Amino acid sequence: MNQRSEEGFGALLPDIRVQPPASASRAMAERLRAVESRNITYVDDGWPVFWQEALGANVRDVDGNVYIDLTSAFGVALIGHAHPAVVSAVREQSGTLMHAMGDVHPSRPKLELLERLCALAPWGEVRAVLASTGSEAVEIALKTAQLATGRPGVLAFRGGYHGLTLGSLAVTEREHFRAPFSQRLYGGVAFVAFPDRARDGDRGAKAALKEACTTLESGAPNGDPIGAVIVEPVQGRAGARLAPDGFMASLSEIAAESGALVIADEILTGLGRCGAQLASDLVGLEPDIVCVGKALGGGIPISACLSRREVMDAWPESSGEAIHTSTFLGHPLACVAALAVLETLEGECVAERARVLGSQLLELLRSELESVPAVVDVRGLGVLIGIELAGDAQAVRVAEAALREGLILLPAGDRGHVIELTPPATLNDVQLKYACDVLCRLIREVV
Ligand code: PMP
Repeated sequence: MNQRSEEGFGALLPDIRVQPPASASRAMAERLRAVESRNITYVDDGWPVFWQEALGANVRDVDGNVYIDLTSAFGVALIGHAHPAVVSAVREQSGTLMHAMGDVHPSRPKLELLERLCALAPWGEVRAVLASTGSEAVEIALKTAQLATGRPGVLAFRGGYHGLTLGSLAVTEREHFRAPFSQRLYGGVAFVAFPDRARDGDRGAKAALKEACTTLESGAPNGDPIGAVIVEPVQGRAGARLAPDGFMASLSEIAAESGALVIADEILTGLGRCGAQLASDLVGLEPDIVCVGKALGGGIPISACLSRREVMDAWPESSGEAIHTSTFLGHPLACVAALAVLETLEGECVAERARVLGSQLLELLRSELESVPAVVDVRGLGVLIGIELAGDAQAVRVAEAALREGLILLPAGDRGHVIELTPPATLNDVQLKYACDVLCRLIREVV
């Protein structure tokens, strides 16, 4: 047994010994400022802490403080940080084959992962492309839709987040990310409203569908015909936004009628986080193409784009040079990690745990926060939960205060007004109750 498991690290409550960020984190932040582009890591008096180790739902910083990670580190550690199955698969694989030649001379783990992934998808015959990041999986989905329909235009949603590479940024709708690069962004993307279940209700859904319908007919702003509709089953970075019941099913219908393919961006929502293997199933979305990433590698970068065989076969047979590939495609370490994750998702009934944990968390938060005037809405699906606050940047202040109390969380929403919770599905009851109590107290104090 290693030292961490003897201590129960992974299932612990926070233990803040020195107010974070303490001296070691501060010193490292100072060094970082001297070498990293200033745009990357935000540094101020209260932020960030440098991580030393992580297991289960716990993180220990370089000053010895222990936290509960309510983010799963951007949604990645759905099965907990450093799950033993992932660690041992990676350890074993690294002893034999670290790297192969993805699209030229591949490895057995790539083959086995593709076999397993294709069995997950909601269609009969499935074909997939592996990649390393979520953004890249989105790029592949967009290229696939263009090849399959012959129409380059895309319909996307306001508030949607699909990544920051140029292709994925073109379908991401947030000025903060887009404005500096607007001249480089493809002009064939039409953004329509994403109806908010609590705020816009069924009338909002109807209006959004009408807008989508008209747009699918009329084409993109640059005149390109639309061949793809890209949507998150639950908008993540916009603040865990859910559309009204029935919206996603109707959207799928109108897309099919217009001949556009539906791309479900399940990079955050997929693989169990929302309480089912794919959140599309829960919200009635019927995708033609699905992107997964984040949780897939259990901490090792890997993503995938899946589609029905007849759609994927729009790509030409390789003549010796793939027209979309990358150096690390099908990386053996990432593939064995993903195989271990998929095994664990099934063996530990992770989606079911996420469903149960998510509804407990929602219930607790709602009962604690219903009388707090600054709380506008508490919502979610599985362990993707948003607490919407009335004021701009209020979630940023809560996140900073929470860090000092040993809770790692992130603000979301275009105004920094939503506290987003994406904890590991393995959070235990004691951690859950503690995190809820502290968070609700902080919300009352800070907002
Ligand atoms: N799509 C969604 C829904 C995401 O949440 C993210 C990452 N937050 C991405 C795409 C981009 O993934 P990556 O950061 O791995 O490129």
